[in-house]
Amino acid sequence: MSNHHDSPRPLVTGPDDGPEPPYPLRLDGKVIKGFGRGSSELGIPTANIPLSGLSVGGHEDVDSGVYYGWAGLSPSKATHQHPPHTQNAKYSHLSSPLQETLSSIATEGGASDKGAVYPMCMSIGWNPFYKNTVRSVEVHIMHHFETDFYGSHMNLSILGFIRPELDYVSKEKLIEDIKTDIEVSGRSLAREPYAKLRRDPYLLEFEGKGEVAS
Ligand code: ADP
Ligand code: MG
Repeated sequence: MSNHHDSPRPLVTGPDDGPEPPYPLRLDGKVIKGFGRGSSELGIPTANIPLSGLSVGGHEDVDSGVYYGWAGLSPSKATHQHPPHTQNAKYSHLSSPLQETLSSIATEGGASDKGAVYPMCMSIGWNPFYKNTVRSVEVHIMHHFETDFYGSHMNLSILGFIRPELDYVSKEKLIEDIKTDIEVSGRSLAREPYAKLRRDPYLLEFEGKGEVAS
């Protein structure tokens, strides 16, 4: 593992004309309790989903690191309160022009009983709790929610890689990099070949996938 970034980082990643194999990578699971670090320590909540074994979307060779893509959430109170495109869907971790672009392309049709699709930034990392034999997936949804959504089902379409897992000298440096990750995710997803993949029907398929929160 390398140290933190010292030089300026690129503001988009992945080819402009759309994701290349192995992307899109699909992964889904139920939102579970994590270690409570996301919101309290970093101010950036991450919805944790279990990853059984080493495989990510059927691939054994996916690197640990930070990725971007679209997240479909099963219907709940959280998806019904000011859905993605509405005005009061305030979200503070993106620069405001980008915020508008993304919310205008996020879920057309508004609140629906099918669930909702949001832009996301996620990390795949080794989980120290299980002596680094199990990996965990943590997803930050780029949207302001009024309530949490533990127990909801989440379908992920991973479209690109941002950076490897890094060692950090300070929490401040880590937070700075996560904010850059969110900006890179937003800009990368706003490109049409990536934006249009929010309509992948898979993202709103929850039937037969275990518990769906109500
Ligand atoms: P945990 O350690 O249990 O994962 P976090 O502090 O990381 O706790 O918060 C994550 C939880 O917060 C999610 O499971 C979800 O229910 C809720 N949440 C609220 N807003 C968001 C968001 N924008 N992105 C991800 N999770 C969110
Ligand atoms: Mg978390």
